[in-house]
Amino acid sequence: MSPPDFAALPAVDTGLTWNNSFAALGPAFFTRLEPRPLPAPCFVAASPGAAALLGLDAGWLQSDAALRLFSGNALPQGGDPLASVYSGHQFGIWAGQLGDGRALLLGEAQTPQGPQEIQLKGSGLTPYSRMGDGRAVLRSSIREFLCSEAMHALGIPTTRALYLCGSPEPVRREAIETAAVVTRVAPSFIRFGHFEHFAARGQFDELRQLADYVIARFYPECLDGAGFGGNPYAALLQAVSERTAALVAQWQAVGFCHGVLNTDNMSILGLTIDYGPFQFLDAFDPGHICNHSDQHGRYAFGQQPGVVYWNLYRLGQALQPLIGDPAIAMAALESFKALYPAEFIARMRAKLGLATAHEDDAPLIDAILHLLTDNAVDYPIFWRRLSHAVAGGDFEPVRDLFADRAGLDRWLLAYQEHAALDGRTLEADLMLRSNPRFVLRNHLGEQAIRAAEAGNFSEVHTLQALLEHPFDEHPGFEAHAGFPPDWAQNISISCSS
Ligand code: AMP
Ligand code: MG
Repeated sequence: MSPPDFAALPAVDTGLTWNNSFAALGPAFFTRLEPRPLPAPCFVAASPGAAALLGLDAGWLQSDAALRLFSGNALPQGGDPLASVYSGHQFGIWAGQLGDGRALLLGEAQTPQGPQEIQLKGSGLTPYSRMGDGRAVLRSSIREFLCSEAMHALGIPTTRALYLCGSPEPVRREAIETAAVVTRVAPSFIRFGHFEHFAARGQFDELRQLADYVIARFYPECLDGAGFGGNPYAALLQAVSERTAALVAQWQAVGFCHGVLNTDNMSILGLTIDYGPFQFLDAFDPGHICNHSDQHGRYAFGQQPGVVYWNLYRLGQALQPLIGDPAIAMAALESFKALYPAEFIARMRAKLGLATAHEDDAPLIDAILHLLTDNAVDYPIFWRRLSHAVAGGDFEPVRDLFADRAGLDRWLLAYQEHAALDGRTLEADLMLRSNPRFVLRNHLGEQAIRAAEAGNFSEVHTLQALLEHPFDEHPGFEAHAGFPPDWAQNISISCSS
């Protein structure tokens, strides 16, 4: 493993106005450095949506200049590249210092939607690389690229992916693979672990500086500390708890399992971040574990709300020196417990086609989730078929999914009676807008990865196009919306990426 290459890189004019407000926090928060150029880079994919967010011309993303920039062979004119330091709890255990071991913040672009940070992932060694090589492999980078944009299209808060390039550079994981760089975009990549870092070291001035920065930029409504006797840090903890509750409710409703919910993989903005061994459920199973390194199922699908609360609790502990009274921190965290169930029920209600709430919605939702579990029913296909059944009146395709048809019939009856309460009607349009036809199932990603590893990126592009509009029918792509093949059960997704 060679040391980082500090040779000055050529500059590329992106047409964007660059700044780096994170850099203004000072050297305790990061190390300035350049990317290590990816050798012989090749274009794999770019996101027109992420380009539009930045105000970048999607055509320019096809240029050599873009390839040089996003492969770490050039720097943006006006950028200020750095790797940030953070710490975190991994699998429930304090891991100490981590940091951007293979990511580099190029800087912050000024956009009509406000500042957006642009970050390379897989751009070489940093002072925080520990035992790692600073690289990311094509396999996991394709997954991150596709899933970031797919989540956005589903309406789920996430870091975005602008660009993906590959390289013949060999990278050792379980086997030898090849390197890739994903360019990610987010208003901020600050994690719970950034706060834990300074709290654990007793660096309370830096802790306050970080919290003040986050409040000023992203949570200005917390400045006056309303509801907490003027304590802005308690208000921040509550606001982060609320955003995170809304996020995890969306994961649970869509059937997304993150796989590595360590505190360093928790965004302070409530974004889905750090796509690793994630999985969209095929058959519904709350006990499903998508990360084969997670032997005890700490991050199993059904554990996510609880473990996310555990992570918020760690954030509360880290903010404790600023908040003061522990009872105030606990009160701020309470909002998660109230908001998560409300947000989850709201999402499920939309999936059921119920535009307005009724107090008995929760038991109806519980009942179908139990039936789905007991019958190992494919989660996305169930919801899509139910949507079409409500639209067209033919429930046979839904019944076909269940071994326990009598149980399903009882539920369908209850569903229809329940929907009629208070004069409600089932809204098929709402269902078709709430139940995606296309999600990035493991086997779809795997097929795209296998072709890409052989030099053919067309399946990456096909998936990208489908997942950009996941609620549309896309005639001709029935197979991409179908059941997983038998071999999908043998796909093993490890943490290694
Ligand atoms: P993750 O579980 O992928 O979010 O990574 C946990 C920590 O390990 C972060 O600090 C990463 O930057 C670091 N890391 C993961 N993979 C590598 C790698 N190949 N090289 C250097 N650092 C890495
Ligand atoms: Mg991470």
